[in-house]
Amino acid sequence: METKPDLVLLQIEPRTPIPDFMLREIQSKLAYADEHIRAASVSPEGIQLQVEPGTSQPELIEKVQRIVESLAYGAIKPKVQILEDYMDRPVPSRLDPMPELIRMGEVSPESAGVFAFGPLVVRLMEFFESQFLALADSFQAAPYRFPTMIPASYLGRVNYFRAFPHSLTFATHLRSDLDVIDEFSQHAACEEGELQSPSKSFAAVKNLLSPAVCYHLYFALADKPLPQGQVIATAVGHCFRYEANNLASLERLWDFTMREVIFVGSKDFVLENRETARQRMRQTFERIGLAYRVESANDPFFIGEFRKQAAFQSAFQLKFEISARLPYKESTLAVGSYNYHQDFFGRNLNITLPDGSPAHTGCAAFGLERMAFAFLAQFGLDTSQWPAEVRQAVA
Ligand code: AMP
Ligand code: ZN
Repeated sequence: METKPDLVLLQIEPRTPIPDFMLREIQSKLAYADEHIRAASVSPEGIQLQVEPGTSQPELIEKVQRIVESLAYGAIKPKVQILEDYMDRPVPSRLDPMPELIRMGEVSPESAGVFAFGPLVVRLMEFFESQFLALADSFQAAPYRFPTMIPASYLGRVNYFRAFPHSLTFATHLRSDLDVIDEFSQHAACEEGELQSPSKSFAAVKNLLSPAVCYHLYFALADKPLPQGQVIATAVGHCFRYEANNLASLERLWDFTMREVIFVGSKDFVLENRETARQRMRQTFERIGLAYRVESANDPFFIGEFRKQAAFQSAFQLKFEISARLPYKESTLAVGSYNYHQDFFGRNLNITLPDGSPAHTGCAAFGLERMAFAFLAQFGLDTSQWPAEVRQAVA
């Protein structure tokens, strides 16, 4: 890790030893330990942090130790199940596409994790959208359109605040009070990217920016019997997950786009359709020549919930991730996932099957920006190197 000149390098010996399989999880969670941490790297040798000068180190170190302890203590190595492995498919590029995309004006960073996209990237995302829409059509999925905001009451009802507090994004507005509005319009200014305004000018938070698409469908179906006992729907939407200083390049965005195909019905109905979706996408990825793997995974729960929830998800094979190869860093990136939530939403939202039992739910979810990014990392920016189908769609 290169140290920026204005930052202090801090080496920490973890109190709880970190097993190899937890290194990546802990590194990403350290972003939420303390606002003064600008970068973190975790290796078998220990923890390296870059912190702002003048930070109170004992407090910061204690928070880091707490994160490590709550994630690493007694952690059980998950059995990773691999359902598809096409990681070795030959692909023509080994370069990080990001610098060239920025130079070409195809990607314009607006702020951390927030990007504008130009015509080539947009057309590529539209190509992948057409593939996901074809998947949705193969199920005759009903189209839905959901708002970008989601009521706080909705997220509360499905325990989201407990499971993912660190990634929430709140929407608010000025209080409807003439003095507050006058004061704001006269004095509001932006300094170093931060809006200077007293926090008491803002109204209480009633909505957030939505972190997922399928939740909206479950709420639309809540508190009533499921029509005909089953629903297959599809929708695309902007999703928001604040990822602190993990927001790097196009790999992790704060504001991204997700296309989902959503299944609601009996357990067998959901599991069979999730499997069919995976088989159909396997053919799509084969045609394109994508290098990837589908493997069991778990969601990035907040540290307090992590051990319990992650073990649960692995044991019951609730999440399979499509991990695309990023050749330039010998790493992978999750471009999509096949999820099964059991009857969690059915129970919490009172969605019932004809026999009165709670409905089961599942979804196939794809990140459009990540899909395009992984493709560009594997195939480069020279379209003559692209598979003919993609080249023609983008031309
Ligand atoms: P998940 O519900 O977490 O499985 O997310 C579904 C898909 O959305 C992932 O496989 C990614 O492709 C995409 N996604 C999730 N989080 C982000 C993020 N922070 N930035 C960009 N894409 C994301
Ligand atoms: Zn979903």
